Amino acid sequence: FSTAATLEQPITPPVQVKHTQLLINGEFVDAVSGRTFPTLDPRTGEVIAHVAEGDAEDINRAVAAARKAFDEGPWPKMTAYERSRIILRAADLIEKHNDEIAALETWDNGKPYEQSVKGEIPMLARFMRYYGGWADKIHGLTVPADGPYHVQTLHEPIGVAGQIIPWNFPLLMYAWKVGPALACGNAVVMKTAEQTPLSALYVSELFHEAGLPPGVLNMVSGFGPTAGAALASHMDVEKIAFTGSTGTGKIISELASKSNLKKVTLELGGKSPFIVCEDADVDQAVEIAHFALFFNQGQCCCAGSRTFVHESIHDEFVEKARARALKRVVGDPFKAGVEQGPQIDQDQFEKILGYIKSGIDSGATLEAGGERFGDRGYFIKPTVFSNVQDDMKIAREEIFGPVQTILKFKNLDEVIKRANDSPYGLGAGVFTKNLGTANTLMRALRVGTIWINCYDVFDAAIPFGGYKMSGNGREKGIYSLQNYLQVKAVVSPVENAAW
Ligand code: NAD
Repeated sequence: FSTAATLEQPITPPVQVKHTQLLINGEFVDAVSGRTFPTLDPRTGEVIAHVAEGDAEDINRAVAAARKAFDEGPWPKMTAYERSRIILRAADLIEKHNDEIAALETWDNGKPYEQSVKGEIPMLARFMRYYGGWADKIHGLTVPADGPYHVQTLHEPIGVAGQIIPWNFPLLMYAWKVGPALACGNAVVMKTAEQTPLSALYVSELFHEAGLPPGVLNMVSGFGPTAGAALASHMDVEKIAFTGSTGTGKIISELASKSNLKKVTLELGGKSPFIVCEDADVDQAVEIAHFALFFNQGQCCCAGSRTFVHESIHDEFVEKARARALKRVVGDPFKAGVEQGPQIDQDQFEKILGYIKSGIDSGATLEAGGERFGDRGYFIKPTVFSNVQDDMKIAREEIFGPVQTILKFKNLDEVIKRANDSPYGLGAGVFTKNLGTANTLMRALRVGTIWINCYDVFDAAIPFGGYKMSGNGREKGIYSLQNYLQVKAVVSPVENAAW
């Protein structure tokens, strides 16, 4: 690793922080309490800005604004085509400001700027176009019921949707939630993650510039147990969508059921298997397995975090995976060519180092990394463990960091059983040239997404979500619309025949 010098003198981000207040009813306002909290640069731990800290009172204000916008219009009463055009215009503005948004995202989150500028922000615009495209194609059915009745269904917006998002992909999570909610005609109150409040404020202003009426999209920065809990338990919020840890997902479900039984969708943690079969091209498999785990500093809910490798190619795979991890370029995320920036914050940094210690203590073989990188900020060296056993903590719990765990297997039946032996069921990777093997694994693995000979392909049209404790409901694609629609059945007699 030779980039330590850049960590001592962080590159100045090519953007200024424009908004630090809450966005309620189309206006930027301070928190009722007047309190603020610092958001930090994960490269250094230094303060980027002080941001208004919303709590229950601010959530009340935001929900009241959303309620009014939904009940009185004009948003749900506009034609679907008008709503579509506003979302599409917002996508154009996102594209126009792509580089500034990307810089803000990298500054607050630590992900490589090249990935923000070429990946996440263009995807945000793409997702908004996808949902803008849906807005005027949502409609009900006519139903062939028995009897002299004309029956139809109306697909109507739910009302006020609460949305709570995490810090690992702030704007993708924003897109997956705001996009379908608006396309279906709902009003939104979103609570962003306390680690990454900045980019959503910037983008939400663009929605207003694109013509979104006030109150339709409200942003409350703040903490989970205060602002987040107030949103999940609010009596006037009719739907809550959450992405984050499984533990917090349980709290959200409980708050929703204890208050008004609002509808709940959850996208939670994972411990996704990445299975490399005996016929796989080892070099390709090593590269994709590396990407599946290390992408986004390992902070992906669907990270391929249990790398199962067939015994016949195991030793070669481990050696190459080790070499690839040692080559991974860690450094200032604003520097060209850097593949890995810092972890999000001190808590995650310590948690990951704790898992690394647990791996060493439990007898796994440390092949690479295993310690912090540099001496400031939250950087961790790309870490690889081999000789990992199923019952080790590092093979069972979500590490959410740059730590690859390699496990050996002998045959398909065995690996299917072991891969499914997890409370999670979010994603899986399968590496094989054999169609029969791919088909067997595709059916047997109990997960929401299977990538065959690829990983982390996140097209807007592909549904995403979890089996088991990885959550419920599906985001993206046509399936995501169901999260934001009510179905109303309308029954009327044909030619007064019933009377
Ligand atoms: P978290 O689940 O606590 O936070 C996610 C969001 O939920 C944030 O906006 C947070 O403010 C909010 N929140 C927290 N407590 C809440 C509460 N009581 N009521 C309402 N909202 C609440 O996640 P974290 O603490 O940031 O990270 C911890 C672990 O969660 C990570 O190590 C990782 O394993 C997992 N995680 C998963 C994802 C994912 O995409 N599935 C994303 C981030 C973190």
